[in-house]
Amino acid sequence: MENYVWTAVKVPRAFLMLLMVFVGFNQTQCQNTSNSNNSKNIKENTMKLNPLSKEEQYVILNKGTERPFTGEYTDHFKKGTYVCRQCNAPLYRSDSKFHSGCGWPSFDDEIKGAVNKIPDADGHRTEITCARCGGHLGHVFYGEQLTEKNTRHCVNSISMKFVEEETTNELAKAVFAGGCFWGVEYYFQNAKGVISTQVGYTGGFTENPTYKEVCAHKTGHIEALEVTYDPKKTTYEELARLFFEIHDPTQANGQGNDIGPQYLSVIFYIDDTQKETAEQLIQVLKDKGYNVATQLKKASVFWPAEDYHQQYYEKGGGTPYCHKRVSKF
Ligand SMILES: [Zn+2]
Repeated sequence: MENYVWTAVKVPRAFLMLLMVFVGFNQTQCQNTSNSNNSKNIKENTMKLNPLSKEEQYVILNKGTERPFTGEYTDHFKKGTYVCRQCNAPLYRSDSKFHSGCGWPSFDDEIKGAVNKIPDADGHRTEITCARCGGHLGHVFYGEQLTEKNTRHCVNSISMKFVEEETTNELAKAVFAGGCFWGVEYYFQNAKGVISTQVGYTGGFTENPTYKEVCAHKTGHIEALEVTYDPKKTTYEELARLFFEIHDPTQANGQGNDIGPQYLSVIFYIDDTQKETAEQLIQVLKDKGYNVATQLKKASVFWPAEDYHQQYYEKGGGTPYCHKRVSKF
């Protein structure tokens, strides 16, 4: 509307710019409720805002208040960040949230610069709004002695969205033994979600075993593969299924022509969840008629094998002589 008037009278461009600067200056000087609305409208033109439901509009745009003890974040204490429902700007961290008993989410501090404090139209309270989009959040109170910071941001749940802190950045491990470890590694090293693999020896009773000792059956160790994977990209079950499909789990004395205790089919589970998953898959295979010989053993120290065994087929080319993938599930 204003633009239309200005264009119609054809005011020189430089004067228009000056006028706009002046208007902007006035807004930062006179922070009352109606100016904060203008400021919001101006900002809305340049940022992407989330569409709001009727209830959200009532609070965020029209400065309404949700009924106490009804908001989804009143008694919510997960680790993460509360962001603006309308524009996604981070507003509060969960470590500043506290239980005030007032019926609305309470914080004793905001993320620096995220919240504007404005004298409320009611003449005595202080309104808080999102510094980015101007959306109404609630009110801030001081001097209540509720926390060390002596401040309570009383925020409508509906003005915010909670973003949980990523806790699953950790990688997980799995250990499989299914015959010559070169072939097992060949199939796992490029599988989805696998970060790295290494071949080695495990399940025995000596330290730092060598290939020669293991082959001479002097150590009790088995040739195995340790897989490091990203649980956000794959699951233990997916990896265990792959394991059963790249070797013959029904062979009880080794794998293919590799006969001997160091070539047995074993899943070395790291925790009970892995064990249960493996048991379930073995049951599925048994139900399909496979006489599964795979053993389940608790994982123990994994001794990496000599360098020349690592990524054997990748380094030397060729394909495994006794492993190939066969669909079984
Ligand atoms: Zn906002």
